[in-house]
Amino acid sequence: MDLAKAEDTCAWHTPESEICILAVDDQPANLIALEAALKGCSYRLMTATSGEEAVAKAFAYEYAAILLDIQMPELDGFETAQLIRSFERGRHTPIIFLTALSNDDKYIEKGYEVGAVDYIYKPINVSILKAKLEVFAELFRKSKELEFHSSQSRRRERDENEKQIAEIKRDTQEQYRDLVEGIRNGIVWTAEAESLRFKFVSPQAEAILGYSISRWLDDSQFIWNRIPAEDRERLIAAIEKAKETNTNVEVEHRKMRADGTTLWFNTNLRCTFRQGATEIRGLCVDVTRLKETEKSLRDMVKMRDEFLSIASHELKTPLTPLQLQMESFIRLFSQGRLDKVPIDILTNMLETSSAQVSILSRLVDQLLDVSRITAGKLQLDRSQTDLVACVREVLSMFHEDLATKGIEVVTHLPDHIFGLWDQSRLVQIVMNLVNNAIKYGNGTPIEIEASWPSRDFVSLRVSDSGIGIPQVDQARIFDRYERAVSPSNFSGLGLGLYITKQLVELHGGTIDVESKTDRGTTFTVTLPIHHL
Ligand code: ADP
Repeated sequence: MDLAKAEDTCAWHTPESEICILAVDDQPANLIALEAALKGCSYRLMTATSGEEAVAKAFAYEYAAILLDIQMPELDGFETAQLIRSFERGRHTPIIFLTALSNDDKYIEKGYEVGAVDYIYKPINVSILKAKLEVFAELFRKSKELEFHSSQSRRRERDENEKQIAEIKRDTQEQYRDLVEGIRNGIVWTAEAESLRFKFVSPQAEAILGYSISRWLDDSQFIWNRIPAEDRERLIAAIEKAKETNTNVEVEHRKMRADGTTLWFNTNLRCTFRQGATEIRGLCVDVTRLKETEKSLRDMVKMRDEFLSIASHELKTPLTPLQLQMESFIRLFSQGRLDKVPIDILTNMLETSSAQVSILSRLVDQLLDVSRITAGKLQLDRSQTDLVACVREVLSMFHEDLATKGIEVVTHLPDHIFGLWDQSRLVQIVMNLVNNAIKYGNGTPIEIEASWPSRDFVSLRVSDSGIGIPQVDQARIFDRYERAVSPSNFSGLGLGLYITKQLVELHGGTIDVESKTDRGTTFTVTLPIHHL
């Protein structure tokens, strides 16, 4: 096997790892003869002419085997072998002694003690020498190949492990980033514990508050100055608590947005130690909507309580005169004096009672309608209905009341306006508007106009010149329980217009108000006709 071929077949082979055998002899002629004898072998023969040179060469290079002459001046073969065995590179190199000495057992024993693996006697039998050296060269090649392959596979394994670790690291970082960026209504941040200078702020901060992240990072005071003064101390106290107790601390505070509005945050703080430094980590969750909902719920509960107290008062008011009338009847009846009471007084007593019952039943009807509307159960029973007839019916219902209060009613009505409406609900709409015109009209004339401005729509206007409604209240009076007057001046539940609007909209129509304080009010209802 020549060296070029060995280079091809041996994967580990590099110029440094060329297989070499070192021959050591103080007689150059012997070395020349050896070189000639070993020409064409699969290894390179290197030579040294002294023990010192051999030690230096064995220290510098790892040989497949060393052929060592025993009889040399200065360092002899045994001493040279001992020195070669004393350092790492030469510890396991096979040493073959070359000797012309007799085959004495003691002598051979000494050779093995200093690390010889074999003896070759001079004069040298070339073919035995060649065969032996070939075995050592092959052994060396195999062990190097093995070493090379195992180091290769170790390296591959290490590379693979490093790759996996890098992947896990990247995945973890990506997951963390996704997690942080995925919190749409929250800001994750890290700040130095002492200076409170921000080290990290998640990108949502910009979307939520409108300031660029660099403003948080570059000027540590920037965002603290965006926290209202009254909340700042609370937040600082929470940070101190997190540092002292090393637990999660929660605090609610506001932050001002770039557009001037304010948001509420629920901030969770924790103190951590990282790379020898103390950090504060925070998660600020935008709870503004929650706060608003909480407030509106509280307002609704307050409103409901107020309504209950008004409603009980309203229901109680007609009950008192009714009870008094009843007691009078019972007294007169038990004393047998009922037939002696003049008929007009009796009639008046009965009419008063009936009026109170009507008021009660109207209040109860309103409450029932509100429950139906809230439950989505208010339904229309449509039939061919005459709006003008409904107006006339309502006016006849209020006839007594209007006459007693001396209120004039001016009407502009055609003979009929027919449409596909719920008759009793249409009466209820007109009744609510006329009732309010009487109640808030201050005794001024009431004007009622029904017209047919287009083929598909009709319009009904009810006007008075009474107390009017301030501009700011005009939108909310159509909402549940909303009133624009003091309950001590005017009775009512604040439900009439709410129910009216719901009924009009169920018919597909609209209701509008035009009003000026102390000048009067006009309600306009527009209804689609829904031809048969
Ligand atoms: P209520 O009359 O029971 O208070 P409504 O829902 O009918 O309830 O009316 C709501 C509010 O609208 C009234 O409290 C009153 O302030 C105002 N309002 C309604 N109609 C008139 C009107 N014709 N003139 C002045 N204010 C009115």
